[in-house]
Parts: sequence; C-alpha cells; structure tokens
Amino acid sequence: MSEAYISVENVSKRYETEDGIVTALEGVDLSVGAGDFVSIVGPSGCGKSTLLRMVAGLESPHSGRIRVDGDVVSEPGSDRGLVFQEATLYPWRTVAENVRFALEVDNVSPTTADRRVSELLSMVGLADRANSFPAELSGGMKKRVGIARALAPDPEILLLDEPFSDLDVATRESLQQDLLELWKRLEKTVLLVTHTVGEAVRLSDSVVVLQGEPGQVATVVDVDLERPRDPETDSFKPYVNTIRGRIRDRSRAAVSAPERPRSSYP
Ligand code: ADP
Repeated sequence: MSEAYISVENVSKRYETEDGIVTALEGVDLSVGAGDFVSIVGPSGCGKSTLLRMVAGLESPHSGRIRVDGDVVSEPGSDRGLVFQEATLYPWRTVAENVRFALEVDNVSPTTADRRVSELLSMVGLADRANSFPAELSGGMKKRVGIARALAPDPEILLLDEPFSDLDVATRESLQQDLLELWKRLEKTVLLVTHTVGEAVRLSDSVVVLQGEPGQVATVVDVDLERPRDPETDSFKPYVNTIRGRIRDRSRAAVSAPERPRSSYP
C-alpha cells in the first residue's frame, strides 16, 4: 500500500443501547493509499459498516481519529461518495433527476449539471435510461444509478457498503467489472465492505479482515495478482482460503503485518 490517504488511527466505537453499551470496534488502525482499492471483510456484526460509516463522517469514533488527506473527519463531505446496499433512489424522480439531485445540492449550474449527468449515465451504461423511473429498472440498473449518483460530485473516495449483495451472480459480476473499470479510469480510492471473500480478492489491492466483537483488524492481505482476475485459477484460490481461514480463526484477532497466502494451501 502507498502512503496513507485514509488513515484510521486507534479507533474505537461504542453505541449506547437500551440493553447497555455495545462496543462495535476496538483499537482499529488502518491505512489506505490514494488510488488504492481496499475491501473490508469479516463476520456479521464485527463492525464493517460502522467503520465505513465513520470514514463517511456519518458516525464519530468514541476514541481515536480518522483522517482523510490529513484532515480529521468530523462530518460527511463531497470528497467521499457513498453507495449502500439499498439504492435508496427517489421513486418520483427519473434516473437523470436522481443523479442530478446530487449536483443540485452542490449548486452546480443547470448546463454543467446536464452535461455531467449525461456523462455519468454513459459511464455506468445507462445513457438510454435517463428518463426511466426507478420502478422501471432492474436491481442491477438501480445499483448503477446509485454509483452514478455517488460519483456526481466527483469525490476522491468511493465508499461502498455491500453494494452488490442482493444481486444474482451474473449481474453482480458485471457490476464488479464495471466498478473496476470506473476505479481505474477515474483514479478513485475505493473502500468496499463485502461479506463475499471472492469479491474482495477479485477486486482489491488489499483485503482487511475484521474479526471479533468488538471488531479488530485480524490481518491485512495484499492481493498480488494481475487484473482481470479469474476465481477459478490456482493463484486466486489460496487468497480466498487464507482470508476465510482468518475469518474462521476467532482466536487470532490481533493486529499483524500484511501477509501473503499461506504456502501450505494448494
Ligand atoms: P457488520 O457491518 O460487520 O455486520 P456493524 O458495523 O453493522 O457490523 O455492527 C457492529 C456492532 O455494532 C453490532 O453489534 C451492531 O449491533 C452494533 N451497532 C451498529 N450500529 C448500531 C447502532 N446504530 N446502534 C446500536 N448498535 C449498533
């Protein structure tokens, strides 16, 4: 990984609930270089979404701090675009109007906004659906609108929380491919939360494994494979095995240096 662009420094997060205090994350350190594609994996409840929401500025750490390009994150900003599992589009607005909304709040002139919306819709392969309403779109198309909307203010960072988890395999793979192309072409920094280890290995420069309750970084695995990556190859599978092994291995929730796949895997 290159020099830290997103830096998570000894971050802990507690929630106060009716049943008492829930510590979602404890002492998390993480460094993401500018232009890197990093995924966060780990069992349900280990704090993946909480971590992403804190980088987004939607939640604050209980202790520690998060910095983006040197500045401490205290609120959401146009430097960070967000894509959630639910596309949450406005049903009464067309596709173009949904994307345009992200620009209206930024006070962009109507002509610039029109140009930008067309550009974004072409980028995500929806140029011909500009006037459709969300109800007329497939699940994959809705995700594409969500991605176009997140990219509208031209953020440096794209934060995605399990964006493809409810899609069929073919649609999911096609969106993964498109996300990779956008990442390369637009030179964004991507932080992706996913519960699918294969997806993380296919897409990422490195995969952060969170583990435990409260969640801690169990390990960071750098994926040293040429893209495009084929999950069926012998070089791909050891990464998946290593990461799955760390997710299962609850006793080893300790911070460690970036690791390579274990040589004992085929
Ligand atoms: P993951 O994304 O890995 O499934 P989350 O970040 O959603 O995990 O949740 C981590 C822990 O924090 C869980 O125990 C969850 O119940 C708790 N949590 C998350 N958000 C809230 C909230 N708004 N209020 C109370 N507890 C929360």
